[in-house]
Amino acid sequence: MRELTPGELLDLDREHVWHPYGPMPGRIEPLLVESASGVRLRLADGRELVDGMSSWWSAIHGYNHPVLNDAARGQLDRMSHVMFGGLTHEPAVRLAAKLVEITPEPLRHVFLADSGSVSVEVAVKMCLQYWRSLGRPGKQRLMTWRGGYHGDTWQPMSVCDPDGGMHDLWAGLLPRQVFADAPPAAYEDTYAEHLRETVARHADELAAVVVEPVVQGAGGMTFHSPAYLRVLREACDEHDVFLVLDEIATGFGRTGTLFAAEQAGISPDVMCVGKALTGGYLTMAAALCTERVAEGISRGDVPVLAHGPTFMGNPLAAAVACASIDLLLGQDWAQEVKRIEAGLRDGLAAAHDVPGVRDVRVLGAIGVVQLDHEVDMAAATRAAVGAGVWLRPFRDLVYSMPPYVTGDEDVARICAAVCAAAAAG
Ligand SMILES: *Cc1c(COP(=O)(O)O)cnc(C)c1O
Repeated sequence: MRELTPGELLDLDREHVWHPYGPMPGRIEPLLVESASGVRLRLADGRELVDGMSSWWSAIHGYNHPVLNDAARGQLDRMSHVMFGGLTHEPAVRLAAKLVEITPEPLRHVFLADSGSVSVEVAVKMCLQYWRSLGRPGKQRLMTWRGGYHGDTWQPMSVCDPDGGMHDLWAGLLPRQVFADAPPAAYEDTYAEHLRETVARHADELAAVVVEPVVQGAGGMTFHSPAYLRVLREACDEHDVFLVLDEIATGFGRTGTLFAAEQAGISPDVMCVGKALTGGYLTMAAALCTERVAEGISRGDVPVLAHGPTFMGNPLAAAVACASIDLLLGQDWAQEVKRIEAGLRDGLAAAHDVPGVRDVRVLGAIGVVQLDHEVDMAAATRAAVGAGVWLRPFRDLVYSMPPYVTGDEDVARICAAVCAAAAAG
């Protein structure tokens, strides 16, 4: 096949290819990436950009990593995929055992899903089916707090922030869930009471509370006191409601602890991981549950969990995930996240002086600048790229979640680009 020029590729892209949250045809021309290595994306026109996004928070070790490449190649030579029904294989078994080992007790069983959204669907299905199996089919609603994001398929969408998740667009089609107010950053007794009261009032119809712990990601990049998770844990226990923690964005060290739940000292009944699970190489996620959840489901008249994606347990993704977790745990990752946190705090302090900036916040390897207006995405992106950095601002936010291998100079460069984007956007 004849090689296509960058111009031809972009023309075909515009004509045929949907991009995330985009109109068809697209209004903003995407940048054409030719390759990526370490923390740098190389564009077709030869420019190099420091990646401030970790490809939506997943590429924690950077790109083209020799250890992850070896894991993928080694597995490719054995088999890239076999079906998971009736068959099993070492990469999936090892990954499941590893996940059980590193996540909070008493999570014990692992459902490997092919994306974060699907893992949330499975988590919800587990909870609903548990109560059905126990003869309480009325418990089928979910509770969450505003400002969340849990994915783009229907059940996850129903617990996304009603405004950001465009619930109006789908009114009548989305399951109607129970929403508490968005969690404040600091601990407040009145808000804790509001959570308790909301769980108590709806206990009879609630299957589960589904929240992101400590950091709400795509719903608005906000942080909240871990104490609220303890409040939810207690309220859920008291009222026979499951607690599902969506650690898809926070898992694998991003907030400074391996999982954000650790900051609250609690464990969920069901937990979802994804994004950084494969170090950003391949799509894979997982829903982990306790023995109680699995045992309850198995007691029902339909004792099976009726879910089984075609590419469930994909060996290639599982092998890379195992390598990525070993790579992470084999180094002082917490120190690296702390180092990046310090760099982000230093570098983003300057954003306080940028006109139109409402808030600057940093937690772990997450740096956020919030504006007092909707960001002009084209102008902000142009400014960041001009500063040699790839960022993807949204709504009123310019933020970075860099790979953990980002050096101090590159962290400083990312911060300068965030400030420039905030000023331009
Ligand atoms: C990204 C994300 C999801 C959805 O994961 P996909 O792999 O994009 O389907 C769900 N929950 C949280 C917290 C996320 O950040």
